[in-house]
Amino acid sequence: MNNAHSLSPEPVDVIVVGAGISGLSAASDLEQAGLSVRVLEARSRVGGRTEDGQFASGTSIELGGQWLGPTQTAALELIDKLGLETFEVYDEGRSLLFAEGKYVHGDDNTFGLGEQAGAAFSELVRLVDSTVTTIDLSSPWSSPEAERLDSMTATQWVEENCPDPTARNFAHTLLASIFAAETHEYSALHMLFYLASGGGLHRMMITIGGAQERRVLGGTHQMSERLAERLNGEVWLQSPVKRISQGEGTARHPVVVTTPGTSHHCKRVIVALPSTLANRLDYEPPLPANRDIAAGQMMPGNVIKYQIEYERPFWRGRGLSGTILSLDHHVSLVYDNCVPTSDRGILVAFVEGRHARQLSELSEQQRAEAVLSDLSAFLGAEAAEPLEILQRNWSEEPYTRGCYGGRFGTGLWTTVGQHLADPCGRIHWAGAETAQIWNGYIDGAIRSGRRAASEIVSAESISHREG
Ligand SMILES: Cc1cc2nc3c(=O)[nH]c(=O)nc-3n(C[C@H](O)[C@H](O)[C@H](O)COP(=O)(O)OP(=O)(O)OC[C@H]3O[C@@H](n4cnc5c(N)ncnc54)[C@H](O)[C@@H]3O)c2cc1C
Repeated sequence: MNNAHSLSPEPVDVIVVGAGISGLSAASDLEQAGLSVRVLEARSRVGGRTEDGQFASGTSIELGGQWLGPTQTAALELIDKLGLETFEVYDEGRSLLFAEGKYVHGDDNTFGLGEQAGAAFSELVRLVDSTVTTIDLSSPWSSPEAERLDSMTATQWVEENCPDPTARNFAHTLLASIFAAETHEYSALHMLFYLASGGGLHRMMITIGGAQERRVLGGTHQMSERLAERLNGEVWLQSPVKRISQGEGTARHPVVVTTPGTSHHCKRVIVALPSTLANRLDYEPPLPANRDIAAGQMMPGNVIKYQIEYERPFWRGRGLSGTILSLDHHVSLVYDNCVPTSDRGILVAFVEGRHARQLSELSEQQRAEAVLSDLSAFLGAEAAEPLEILQRNWSEEPYTRGCYGGRFGTGLWTTVGQHLADPCGRIHWAGAETAQIWNGYIDGAIRSGRRAASEIVSAESISHREG
């Protein structure tokens, strides 16, 4: 990786903008196809929304994306190829549900909601999971009833399909934590597409067998680090791309990608950024109107992620799994996040959607106090006395501006959605928001990078044959 930048670097076949897992997956595939590549990354590290945090104890802990599930085969295969290992999360003991000022122990059948609301919620999950099978992942706007589903919010769809108010409240909180946004902030079609892309609501919400089943030993950021190390081409850090021009370069390398002080010439470019950031670059000529609207409207969710280290995992001794869902607090979701390399107790806590926006108004110290106050409401006074608390507010990060992924509000998939991933001339789009499978997840990001790389390999082999 390179911090000392030449002002007139050699032209390359492809510039990749962004050294997250999507950009680096694209770069790796392009090199394997024999193309020369340079990756330009704004931050002083690779990995984007996967990031290593360090407790003072020396334990590495994930500040960004961390879990993987059994159907995330693109991610699991890459982990294997890179010589990394995964481990299964702790999932023993009872979970807790806080709702309407009370707490109950979770239960696999009723989720702790009681018989009537539990049955209504299970019915809702069944309905969601049968409806998602009708969604066309490659063109959600062509799915049956696409226009009707796109004209209503996810809130309205849940209201329409779930008669029980407690089950609805539970569904709104659960969905808010999957999307990091409130259900009124995205359309029903977007909800169903996103859930379909991950194999349904049941798979996305469970741990073992689902999206939260395992983690990478040492952290997911290593996937990007190892991919970057294995590239022949350069990865330029601290190189924020500002402008992409198609046609101002030479006949052989017509695209010019500009970072402060440097112009990079290439044949094609992959923009592997969250869609909302991709839209903040200057393009010459300007992007088509519908592409601009699509990317500009793909709004990111809001998450503040906390990793909290304790002397020991005290909740386990009480028969608790550490999994906590609250409908009442700023912290909506907590999991046991211990790692095999340390005997300390670690909890991961998420503040999402409207709660993240509210806490963003406070100082880091005040936010941490609010989180510890919630944790002690869940687990007692011991929870308020951690050894250390790490936090990352992803909406404050200038080169991310929100997560986990992006979302479309009403009326967007069916009007401009088709322009989100379509190449614009020599510009190709990657990033978790452009994925058809596991959209918004690490696995989807990898797939999106590989798809963009294959678009370029096909386009270049055609122009090679013609030229
Ligand atoms: C708190 C949190 C928890 C998550 N949990 C999970 C999880 O458990 N499991 C899961 O699968 N996924 C999870 N995700 C989502 C997952 O991390 C992302 O989907 C994935 O990492 C996105 O990769 P990407 O390459 O598409 O984008 P990014 O990782 O965002 O990469 C984009 C890169 O572009 C760089 N960049 C931005 N602007 C510029 C510019 N102008 N010029 C050059 N470079 C630029 C950025 O610095 C970044 O490195 C989580 C994300 C967060 C933040």
